[in-house]
Amino acid sequence: MNNASQIYDIVVIGGGPAGLTAAIALAGTGARVALLARRTPYTDNRTTALLGASVDLLERLDVWPRCRDKAAALRTMRLVDDTGRLIRSPEVRFSSQEIGLEQFGYNIDNRSLIASLEERAAELPNLTRHDDEAAAIAPGDAEVTVRTGQGVVLTARLAVGADGRQSPSRTAAGIEIVRRDLHQSALTFNIAHSHPHNNISTEFHTPHGPCVLVPLPGNRCSVVWVQATKEAERLMALSDDELSDATEKQSHSILGRIRIEPGRNLFPLTIESPKEFASHRVALVGESAHVLPPIGAQGLNMGLRDAADIADIAGTAMSQGEDPGAPQVLARYQSARRADVASRTIAIDIANRSLLNDFLAVQSLRAAGMHLLSSFGPLRRLAMREGLAPTWKRVS
Ligand SMILES: Cc1cc2nc3c(=O)[nH]c(=O)nc-3n(C[C@H](O)[C@H](O)[C@H](O)COP(=O)(O)OP(=O)(O)OC[C@H]3O[C@@H](n4cnc5c(N)ncnc54)[C@H](O)[C@@H]3O)c2cc1C
Repeated sequence: MNNASQIYDIVVIGGGPAGLTAAIALAGTGARVALLARRTPYTDNRTTALLGASVDLLERLDVWPRCRDKAAALRTMRLVDDTGRLIRSPEVRFSSQEIGLEQFGYNIDNRSLIASLEERAAELPNLTRHDDEAAAIAPGDAEVTVRTGQGVVLTARLAVGADGRQSPSRTAAGIEIVRRDLHQSALTFNIAHSHPHNNISTEFHTPHGPCVLVPLPGNRCSVVWVQATKEAERLMALSDDELSDATEKQSHSILGRIRIEPGRNLFPLTIESPKEFASHRVALVGESAHVLPPIGAQGLNMGLRDAADIADIAGTAMSQGEDPGAPQVLARYQSARRADVASRTIAIDIANRSLLNDFLAVQSLRAAGMHLLSSFGPLRRLAMREGLAPTWKRVS
């Protein structure tokens, strides 16, 4: 080993919320972990609705106590048909009390969540952060070698690719993805409002996508407004007063007077699925492994389950003297993640398509499904539990 070369058990590439969580969870197994992630200020105003199991994981990793005061509890979720179509669905209300929970989860701004993850990561003695990026990733038979932008060489038996949608580690492992452009974009911003939200998250279903208002602490909410891309761009260009009025109109004034806060972002929506979740000593977590439209708050919740699973599987393998990057260990990760990610991707795709579809037959089916959900308790409770985490993975 020369001065510029360092050996670890596992290198995590990417310091978004999925990568930071994976690095902390992996370090918790006792592995020597390198986190290769540039320290850059978080630039968008997005928030994340963290569902039950994600909060439990962050609690176990000693992250949640650092940021829970920045989060608002989500106790009720309302789905409102605002399509104005001939066949409309009834309103559906999911209440956490109905399944014996105080809340489904919490909504928190990503900036606070990431700050707490970074703070925790910095405390772990067997987690070394390299404030840099991966310039070259070379998976080999016995190890994977990562060269940083500054020329440091990191060698490990497993690389965790948490490097987002463009994922250089996915390319290095030769994993192909299937990508579909939805021709929709999500406009995100935060609002202050005059009426209390009462911890109710409301999703208005319009013919072009959902507009969701998710509680934040105080009389504030985050808004994710999905529209056809041209319309989303038009909304993005409105003045603050105009966008405040448009949001109040879209939300039927349920929150009273609305004032938008500074900062808005536009995200083009796609669905992306890799053909494999791991290969050639690289395991994918977070958006390198799945990109979904923001419906049902599943994206990062799945990313956190990726992180928990890779830590569990690689940690167990190492404790039994196995190589964490060996094909049979990667195969375990693949089978742990495949069903969860595939089932959610299909469900969200169908939900989105049924909203956009103009066919009367599809609208009738959608309305019938929503009617069943609204009137049939056992089905509603099953949907709530399944929405929180896959039933086969839940530890009660
Ligand atoms: C509008 C919107 C709303 C959403 N709301 C929710 C929600 O309510 N609940 C939910 O669960 N999910 C939600 N999501 C999804 C969630 O935001 C994403 O799943 C999550 O941000 C992805 O995190 P990540 O760590 O995988 O990726 P990223 O945050 O993209 O992080 C990837 C990191 O890798 C780094 N990187 C890239 N290349 C390299 C390299 N060569 N070397 C080193 N580092 C590199 C990047 O700089 C970046 O920091 C939403 C998404 C959108 C678009």
